[in-house]
Amino acid sequence: MKLQEGPILYRASFLLPISSAPFEEGALLVDDGRILAVDCFDKLTVAHPGVTVVDFGDALLLPPMVNAHTHLELSSFDEWSATAGEPDSPHEFVDWILWLVRVRRSVSEEQFHDSLAKGLNTSLRTGTGAIGDILTTLSAAPAYRKSPLRGRIFAEVLGHDPAVAEKRLTAISDTLLNDSRSALDWGLSPHAPYTLSAAVLDQVFAFARGLSLQCTMHLAESTAETRFLHNGSGAIADKLYAYARWDPTANPPPGCSPVAALCRQGRLRRGDLVVHGVQVDAADIDLLKQSGCSVVLCPRSNATLNVGKAPVAAYLKAGVPLALGTDSLASSQSLSVWDELAFAYDWFAGAGKPCEWLAMATLGGAKALGMQDRMGKLEPGLEASFQVVTLPDMPCLNALEETLCASGQDVKVTHLYLAAENVMPGN
Ligand SMILES: [Zn+2]
Repeated sequence: MKLQEGPILYRASFLLPISSAPFEEGALLVDDGRILAVDCFDKLTVAHPGVTVVDFGDALLLPPMVNAHTHLELSSFDEWSATAGEPDSPHEFVDWILWLVRVRRSVSEEQFHDSLAKGLNTSLRTGTGAIGDILTTLSAAPAYRKSPLRGRIFAEVLGHDPAVAEKRLTAISDTLLNDSRSALDWGLSPHAPYTLSAAVLDQVFAFARGLSLQCTMHLAESTAETRFLHNGSGAIADKLYAYARWDPTANPPPGCSPVAALCRQGRLRRGDLVVHGVQVDAADIDLLKQSGCSVVLCPRSNATLNVGKAPVAAYLKAGVPLALGTDSLASSQSLSVWDELAFAYDWFAGAGKPCEWLAMATLGGAKALGMQDRMGKLEPGLEASFQVVTLPDMPCLNALEETLCASGQDVKVTHLYLAAENVMPGN
């Protein structure tokens, strides 16, 4: 789409920059894909007479949502599990993993591609402008090229056999080196500390460092994981390792928490991403703070799998950078970060102020994906990336942030702009 030449003033009855307090009758002055000014509409029209005005009326303008952890290739999971004759999701963590693996095996590579395309489209419709997406099926990657979504694709690696891992890493490097047309960057996802052998973990992290790839890992998600890392026992050993025919001696228990184990091995590095961070104690929170990693909370997934609640208040107090993710539709009800936010705000009632939750859903995600200089807040110099939303009854300014946090599906996303381009599907 060709961008209009000359500056445009986008006006709405409320403007929420995220990096500063919301205000009424706000406007963004945009030119050449970037924000030139964020101020009151009246002030900007006086300073820029004759400028083209796009008026969104009684609506709120704010940065796009960032879904910092998802698996969009699984967006048709409901359909697949029904077709595979396994419609019901188990609520025990390891049973759920085995269910996921069984259903995945019934699906063709083409179906993953279509499912990913569907997830990318749904993300845009719900006001998401950037994703941290886990990709297992490399042949589905062309789907990203047709999407304007920003963010990062994390190619997933798991398994115990170094020879198989080597082939996988070669395939990943071929895929990402040949991908110059996607709007997304690439990263790597060693799946979890219990699904990679010690040798494969070494290989994967060496590969990531060699190519300066950001890493993300599912970490400290369940008590099953904690138990396995402490002494190699429990459902992960009894069920998952038995099913995969993995040799437990290839992944000897470090005898400490998952966070402590990764820190000891020097594998939690500034800028990397920890997903879940539910099963952590005060010492782990300190380690995470020192590491400079962001933690992506996926509360609806955690509730579905019954793995516990992340200590949000302690994370906020310690200053650990937080972001929000929907996880996949195999463990969550929707890909809407607005829905995730509403669930989290209710589930963690009292932990975090509304402005902190809204920041996690936008700027926190942008920081987690290393793109805070491009989006996540409305400030001069950044790309003109924003969403416009309405509520059934627009609240007064004082109640705006709290109402937004609590509204979920009542939030109607009417427009989504990325670098000044209207990318809402159907437009
Ligand atoms: Zn996940």
